[in-house]
Amino acid sequence: MITVLSGGTGTPKLLQGLKEIVNPKDLTIIVNTLENDYFSGVYVSADIDTVLYTMADMINEDVWYGVKDDTFITHERLEELGCGELLRIGDIDRATKIQKTQLMEEYGLLKACEIQAKNMGIESRIIPMSQDQTDIKIITDIGELEFHDFLIKYQSMPEVLDIEFSKVKPCEGIIDSIRNSEAVIIGPSNPITSILPILSLDGVWDALKDTYVVAVSPIVGSGAVSGPANKFMKALDIEVSSVGVASLYQDFLDNIIIDNEDENLKSKLNQIVNKVTITNTIMSNLGVKKNLAQIIIDSISLKKRGDY
Ligand code: GDP
Repeated sequence: MITVLSGGTGTPKLLQGLKEIVNPKDLTIIVNTLENDYFSGVYVSADIDTVLYTMADMINEDVWYGVKDDTFITHERLEELGCGELLRIGDIDRATKIQKTQLMEEYGLLKACEIQAKNMGIESRIIPMSQDQTDIKIITDIGELEFHDFLIKYQSMPEVLDIEFSKVKPCEGIIDSIRNSEAVIIGPSNPITSILPILSLDGVWDALKDTYVVAVSPIVGSGAVSGPANKFMKALDIEVSSVGVASLYQDFLDNIIIDNEDENLKSKLNQIVNKVTITNTIMSNLGVKKNLAQIIIDSISLKKRGDY
C-alpha cells in the first residue's frame, strides 16, 4: 500500500502516471480540503473532485479543474439571471457537486467521496484530509482575502503577507493509512496551501517520521511550475526553491525528487535529506508522468530490499 498526499494540480498529474504503474487498489490518496466551501448552493471540494476526475480519466487537463468537454449552460444562465458565479462550474461537474452535497449532508464527506469514487469505477481509496470545515484567510497588501477571492477575483496578484487556517480534525483512516503504507509520496503540490494543511493534522507529522517519505518538488528553479506557491512560501519565510521545500519536510523526508534544472542544488539538499533524485519533473505528457512514477516506485522497492 502506498499513500499519496495531494492537492489539485501537480499531484494529480503524477497520479496519472502512478495509476499506470501500480495497481490502483494499492493507492490511498489523502486530499487537501482547505479550500472547500459552498458556491451557488453546492459544496465545492475542488481538489477532491480533481482527484476523482483524474482517477476516472475525466479531468479537464487544460485547467486541472472540472470535467473535460463539459458544457456551461447553467453557469451562463445564472450569469444572465444576475447571479454570476465566482467559480466556472460546468454542467456535468455541477451534477457531481450536487450529488456530493446531498451525500455529504446525509453521510459526511468521507462516505460521499467513497460512494462517488465507486460510481466512477475508481479502485483507489480517496480520503478527504478532514470532514470539518476549514477557515482560511490570506493576509495581503490590499487586506484580508478569502482564498477563492485571492485566487480568482484577484488572480493571485496581491502581495501575500501571511496565511492563517483553522485547526481541524483528521478524517478517520488517515493516520492508519500512513502508518500501514510502505511509503508516503508527497506529490508536487503547493507546499503551503495543499500539503501543510495535511501535515498540520494531529498525528500526521509523527506518523510520517515512522514511514519512508518521498517528495517531488513543485518548485523548479526559482519558481512554481504553476500557481502562487512562491508567494505563499515567501510569506512564511521559506526559501522559494526545492531546498525550501525540503527544509519544510526535513523532519520526515527520506528522498526528494528535483528537476534536472536544479542539479546545482544537490549538495545543499544532501545536507537536509538522505537521498536526492534528479530527473525531469515537468509533467507535460504521459511519458514523463509514468517515468517519474516509476522512479518513485523504484526508490520504494530499493528501500524495501534494504539497498537504499
Ligand atoms: P492546487 O490545489 O490547484 O493549488 O494544486 P496543487 O497544490 O496540487 O499544485 C500546485 C503546484 O503544482 C504548484 O506549486 C506547481 O508548481 C506544481 N506543479 C504543477 N505542475 C507541475 C509539474 O509538472 N511538475 C512539478 N514538479 N510541479 C508541478
